[in-house]
Amino acid sequence: MKIVLALGGNAFNKPSEPITQEVHMRNIEKAAEVVTEIVRDGHHVVITHGNGPQVGFLAELQRGREAFKLDALTAATQGLLGYFIAAAVDKRLGSGRTVVVVTRVEVDCDDAEFGNPTKFVGPLYTEEAVHMLSAKYGWKFRQDSRGGWRRVVPSPKPRKIVEIDVVKRLLADGYVVVAAGGGGISMCGGAGVEGIVDKDLTSALIAMEISADFFVILTDVDGVYLNYGKPGQKKLERVKVDELERYYAEGHFPPGSMGPKIQAVTQYVYATGGRAAVGSLDEGSSVYRGEAGTQIFP
Ligand code: ADP
Ligand code: MG
Repeated sequence: MKIVLALGGNAFNKPSEPITQEVHMRNIEKAAEVVTEIVRDGHHVVITHGNGPQVGFLAELQRGREAFKLDALTAATQGLLGYFIAAAVDKRLGSGRTVVVVTRVEVDCDDAEFGNPTKFVGPLYTEEAVHMLSAKYGWKFRQDSRGGWRRVVPSPKPRKIVEIDVVKRLLADGYVVVAAGGGGISMCGGAGVEGIVDKDLTSALIAMEISADFFVILTDVDGVYLNYGKPGQKKLERVKVDELERYYAEGHFPPGSMGPKIQAVTQYVYATGGRAAVGSLDEGSSVYRGEAGTQIFP
């Protein structure tokens, strides 16, 4: 089987944990265990991952001296997290087994998001800094619920994975492939642009491109819920894709968190007839075996 395993950026470094190398390496051990199990079962795997906390950290580091743009920061986190994942997996499967691909993703230059950015990124800024940065770089800001201002950037739809042929080839040659970290580096017309493609949607695109049999999303919640966070919330354990689509239309899955995961698995299952799962990294192995999380069927 071919499997795409998407790992959440928050699962590597929970908001409650300090951002350190040790924390990342400890959390990534859990992901490496799942990957090892998948490979020992004889399957091929592409690992994708988020980068929210890490790109936020880099943005904070260069506050006041905005040297690098978002395409570059995304590339940096692909190397950073890809390296940790490769080291942890190779420790179990043998040196050189894992390859990290710096991955670009083409988006439509006229995607509506460029006119109306929605994705928060980076630290909180004062009103004074907001005026300076808007004038200097044309950045857009929105008020954050925590009080203060945060930068908003476009989150365009992924159209084409630039390195997809190389990903397929590495997979066929038996490598464990890490690709499209942070949703991939946004490219429009062959040039990097300031945007953050949703990592779940890019992962679905990879899963469709390689005709994956199983698409697994591991995050920090133990499954997909109806009425999440409300009285009477209910976890979905086994669900057909058309039923899930109905719940999406009813508004159970907010944009920016569970919404894109549901869009991603729905697109993938309809396009390929494959199976998908959403669950927690802590239960990763059981989610992979179909015994935990939310299992989604064609
Ligand atoms: P990741 O970094 O893995 O992409 P996100 O924070 O984007 O994680 O999405 C996971 C979060 O979605 C969970 O922590 C949870 O708080 C939130 N969430 C929103 N709606 C739901 C829902 N209906 N079922 C489960 N989790 C939900
Ligand atoms: Mg997310």
